[in-house]
Parts: sequence; structure tokens; C-alpha cells
Amino acid sequence: MISFKGKPSADHLVEHLESFIQDTLARCTQCGECFKACPMTEYGPGLKEARPQEAVAGILDWLKGVPNHATSLDWLKVCTQSSVCIKACPENINVMKMMRTAQISALGSLGAQPALKSRDEKDFFRKINAFSATQLTTEEIEKWQR
Ligand code: SF4
Repeated sequence: MISFKGKPSADHLVEHLESFIQDTLARCTQCGECFKACPMTEYGPGLKEARPQEAVAGILDWLKGVPNHATSLDWLKVCTQSSVCIKACPENINVMKMMRTAQISALGSLGAQPALKSRDEKDFFRKINAFSATQLTTEEIEKWQR
């Protein structure tokens, strides 16, 4: 849970992501259940034949800031944030957030060499609001929007 002291800032978000990344890296067993449950894997090149454990290992690489350009990028590109993966995870990891954080890393926003292009997206901020509504408490959202 985020606990903001004073005015929320980009530092708070980075701190929150770093904490989420460390927790995910510590708890993910790379069982691959999230990949198996994902409804989008049939739409990415090579994902049908991919090994679930390998796909997840690539996502964890992005969380570590280690560029991974094969299956993981194909998976990140087709992810629509369906959230089906969250229910599939036996470790109660928020896999949708894990995927979103890996996308942020692959876009180069966490220090890794960019491997994904950001979209020219007119609904970008509306989507951020929708995403934050699924991740933060009402109190946290109010603090961010102040
Ligand atoms: S289902 Fe959970 S524990 Fe298994 S690979 Fe996915 S994130 Fe890791």
C-alpha cells in the first residue's frame, strides 16, 4: 500500500514501482500460470509455441532492467490488461501490474534501453486514470489528483 508523506511526486511513483518490483521478483516462482491463462497469447507472433516459464522469465528481466527482446516483448505488445492473469497466479501477484511495469521498463522509463515505442495515444491519460482506479485506493487517488 502506498503511503504518501507530503505532496505526491514522481519520486513517490518510482519508490512504489521499485517496491512492487522487489516484491514481485521475490515471490514469483515462474510457474507460468499467468501466461497459460492469458487470452492474448494466440495473437502475438511466436507466443503460441512459447514456453510459459520462458515468457515469464523475460518479463522478470524487464523488471530487473535487463533488456529481453524475444517472447517477452511479443507478450507485452499484445497485453490488453484483461486482468485474467491476476486470478491465475497462485502467489497472489498482481500480474496485470507486473505486465504494465514491464511495459514501462521496455519503454525505457526505468533506465533500460527502450525496446517498445510509446503510442501516439489520444486517450492516454484517460487510460492512466482507469488503470490507477484498479490499483490504488480512493484515498490514494484523491491525493494524486490534488
Ligand atoms: S502465475 Fe504468478 S507466480 Fe506464476 S509465473 Fe505468473 S506471476 Fe509468477
